[in-house]
Amino acid sequence: MSDCLFCKIAAGEIPSSKVYEDALCYAFDDIDPKAPTHFLVIPKQHIPSVAAVDESNSAVVAHCLAVIAKIAREKGMDSFRVVSNTGEQAGQSVFHLHFHVLSGRDMTWPPG
Ligand code: 5GP
Ligand code: ZN
Repeated sequence: MSDCLFCKIAAGEIPSSKVYEDALCYAFDDIDPKAPTHFLVIPKQHIPSVAAVDESNSAVVAHCLAVIAKIAREKGMDSFRVVSNTGEQAGQSVFHLHFHVLSGRDMTWPPG
């Protein structure tokens, strides 16, 4: 989508601190980290949020989760939190599906 911030980041049109990339997904450090480790994993395909996941795109979403597990193994992260805010009330501010991966500090439950 031409006016989407994360489509532009995935395409390399806006710079980011890359963590991982393959044909289907892109991972990069969050610009405003909320934990010592905080990166985002996004599909290269524009999917607005978890609410738009269906049988036509669920394979790429599953791939994003497999990539999260791979990065976590490589970074030696044995405890981490995966978050995908969905909708404005839940805190979503960028409407291109992304998984926050947070690690490196104690976390509380439930989230605020
Ligand atoms: P949301 O609020 O939608 O759950 O998450 C969006 C995330 O994207 C936020 O944590 C925010 O800090 C991050 N973000 C927003 N703009 C940029 C940017 O230009 N570059 C990077 N690396 N992260 C961004
Ligand atoms: Zn997009």
